[in-house]
Amino acid sequence: MHLPIDYIPKKVSILGAGRSGCAAAQFLGSKGDAVFISDACSPEKLAEMLAANQCGGFPSEAGGHTERILDADVIILSPGVPSDLPVLQKAKSRGVAVWSEIELAFRFSKGAYLAITGSTGKSTTISMLGSILKAAGVEHSVAGNIGVPLVSTATKIGPTGFIAAEISSFQLENIDCFRPKVAVVLNLLKNHLDRYKNEEDYYNAKKAIAVNMGKNDHVVINHGDPLLARWAGQLDGRTNVVRFGNGSIPSDGVWYENGALFSRFGGAQEHLLDVKSMRLRGRHNYENACAAAAAAHLAGIGHKHIASGLSEFSGLEHRLEYVAEIDGVRYYNDSKSTTAESILCAISAFEHNVHLIAGGRDKGCDFSIVKEAIAKNVKSVCLIGEAAGRMEKVWSGCAPISNAATLEEAVKGVHAKADPGDVTLFSPGCSSFDMFRDFEHRGEVFKKSVLQLQEKR
Ligand code: ADP
Repeated sequence: MHLPIDYIPKKVSILGAGRSGCAAAQFLGSKGDAVFISDACSPEKLAEMLAANQCGGFPSEAGGHTERILDADVIILSPGVPSDLPVLQKAKSRGVAVWSEIELAFRFSKGAYLAITGSTGKSTTISMLGSILKAAGVEHSVAGNIGVPLVSTATKIGPTGFIAAEISSFQLENIDCFRPKVAVVLNLLKNHLDRYKNEEDYYNAKKAIAVNMGKNDHVVINHGDPLLARWAGQLDGRTNVVRFGNGSIPSDGVWYENGALFSRFGGAQEHLLDVKSMRLRGRHNYENACAAAAAAHLAGIGHKHIASGLSEFSGLEHRLEYVAEIDGVRYYNDSKSTTAESILCAISAFEHNVHLIAGGRDKGCDFSIVKEAIAKNVKSVCLIGEAAGRMEKVWSGCAPISNAATLEEAVKGVHAKADPGDVTLFSPGCSSFDMFRDFEHRGEVFKKSVLQLQEKR
């Protein structure tokens, strides 16, 4: 249901009492709205979350979303709440608008949105963009899916500032007026199919980022992704398309080639920087840097600032993070890797002599795409978790494979066989919930196990 951009809701129901739901409650509450919070968790857990986020004063319900939420002008969905709940269908049929947090934040923001979505690389790329905006000294915020609620930061940015927003496809399911100035779509991979009926639904959810974009806006797409290229063909004319990726680009865009990043805008080609000046490694990260550079250029940031922002960026925790060198073996923590594509990128970031630790809860990825890289770069594989059996079947014959009951045991086992000059890479390619609270917990356990090797020497 469409509501005009200047529509001010008076009564809102917020689904999900996490950080972003509570930020929305506080924001709307401070504007005098009647706020009701609803969460599927237990009453005890809800009370704890509301108290932790100073939202204890709002009326609320726990244990599920009753029809009480329909007594509102607008329902705000937190990023983790599925948008196919029957009660939301009922809301829509009764004329109650359903907004995701990005729609809410957008309506109350003055700054320009530089949005990034895609299957993988979002947090890395949005943080690179943040580093560039910082180097340029412009007013900005980095928020969204990255863990900072949009509504609490984006709404404070002035009209000449920028909001670098990491956006998941789930959040794009419920937008109305959301219109970024620049929208980057990094890649479309067979991920999240557990949540969508089919691939097409998932792709369409990502493409929604551009529905309201027009002649003065720019969509930035990976020119190596065939699905995105097809989509760009459908967009041409309605909004502007800029490309990024690996290998030279004949139209407007930023690309990685022969150890450097280049840009071409309005026909003029420029060398942006040599990747050896970046602290991050791996072709995927150089491509992410191209995407961030293209978005920054389109926001009017000069190339000097783009180059210094990219060189200063030191990477995010749990994404191909260097941990330590022990007995000549370098250890890398890539716990955020939850797809086969991420394992592939991680292995390919090293020349050879990699000992791979992988496994966890199976998300149904196609692990066969990693076979060639394992055969080429990997000396041994150690598998953990529920997916171990399937991974072993797919990778059998590519490298020697062993199993471990715990991550700690895997680290010890690999250390015993690694030679000086080797790399031990923990890139699980699966979700963490079979053995850990989340990917952060999993990464901490890996790092602790590595550092314990050092102490035991
Ligand atoms: P997201 O926020 O989309 O989950 P992250 O930046 O947190 O992405 O990275 C998640 C995982 O994907 C990490 O293991 C990282 O090394 C890997 N990765 C980063 N960029 C890319 C990319 N462009 N293509 C494939 N994998 C990537």
